[in-house]
Amino acid sequence: MTDKKITPASLAAQAMGWIDPVTKAVVPPIHMASTYQRDEDNGYRSGRIYARADNPTFDQAEATLTALEGGARALIFSSGMSAATACFLALAPGDHVVVPKVMYWSLRNWLATFATDWGLKVDFVDADRTDAIAAAVRPGATKLVWIETPANPTWGVTDIAAAADIAHRAGALLGVDSTVATPVLTRPIEFGADIVMHSATKYLNGHSDIIAGALIGARDDAHWAKLRAIRAQLGTILGQTEAWLLMRGMRTLFPRVAWACRSAQTLAERLAAHPMVAEVLYPGLPSFAGHAVSRRQMTGGFGGMLSVRVKGGERAAIAAAARVALWKRATSLGGVESLIEHRASIEGPGTPCPPDLLRLSVGVEDGGDLFDDIDQALRRADNA
Ligand SMILES: *Cc1c(COP(=O)(O)O)cnc(C)c1O
Repeated sequence: MTDKKITPASLAAQAMGWIDPVTKAVVPPIHMASTYQRDEDNGYRSGRIYARADNPTFDQAEATLTALEGGARALIFSSGMSAATACFLALAPGDHVVVPKVMYWSLRNWLATFATDWGLKVDFVDADRTDAIAAAVRPGATKLVWIETPANPTWGVTDIAAAADIAHRAGALLGVDSTVATPVLTRPIEFGADIVMHSATKYLNGHSDIIAGALIGARDDAHWAKLRAIRAQLGTILGQTEAWLLMRGMRTLFPRVAWACRSAQTLAERLAAHPMVAEVLYPGLPSFAGHAVSRRQMTGGFGGMLSVRVKGGERAAIAAAARVALWKRATSLGGVESLIEHRASIEGPGTPCPPDLLRLSVGVEDGGDLFDDIDQALRRADNA
């Protein structure tokens, strides 16, 4: 293994190969300390002062995320929302941002309410059309273009390289919510992104047992320093135990995502031919609008998320979700257990989500079992 570059999958499995220098433990300890002793000469040679700024338990997870995304630095946060909102809070009132119409609903609501009240000028665009992004940017005024790809819950795909080019020509940064793609399938920095954001609650941790977020920066520059300062000032840090769990979860990121992608692709193909299904939304289907772009920027699969539009409309969709046994009716995604959700119900009034849509997060159960369960649920919903 000397002259061959170690792949991201191997780095993740071993948390960068970290071994405790004192005990030789293959798993790091959890550092519970909230404060660190000052040196006798009044310095802080350890580089650590107080745990609202950082904690040694963050180190492995941040180093691993930096390596997996090919970035310069990473920061883990108390949630995906605190990671994402830090990117907007690093701007100034009056700055212009371009964001997608279809995106993670809670961030969309925050942008339309708090961020707008605070003074950001927010334009919502059809981000799967790069000409719409180009038409919305205002050179000099636009400071951030934000995209999510594939985007919740209809999985529209944005061309990252084209969006980066548009943003940079206007003097703006490109931020990418890459929660659904994961670094296993897409590394947005390679396509020109400046900041990559993850809800680490989802695939990175993968076990539906912590809330966490992450940012990975392409450069360790003044903007990055501002993001780090926002985390320390607002105290949107992850708890020590959660940071440790996140690293534990990330060790199996590659096999979990590969398995979910295989099952999701098969499910999408089988459900597309199902008599109760009007349409399957999945980047891995050649008939899907974003398929060609996905082939360029996703490697090894098209993700574990798909949505189905049920014939018979909203009533049939809710009835089908009520009749699953193996799938669990819950919000969230990216865990080992498969989840199904009538998405319009949770997004509420004003949602761009079609009322007949069921969102599926494919876990690591047997793919045949997953199909059989949803097949019987769809058929029984039809007779209900
Ligand atoms: C869940 C999610 C978020 C928000 O993350 P939290 O960890 O729940 O705060 C943001 N973006 C996407 C795509 C998500 O799925």
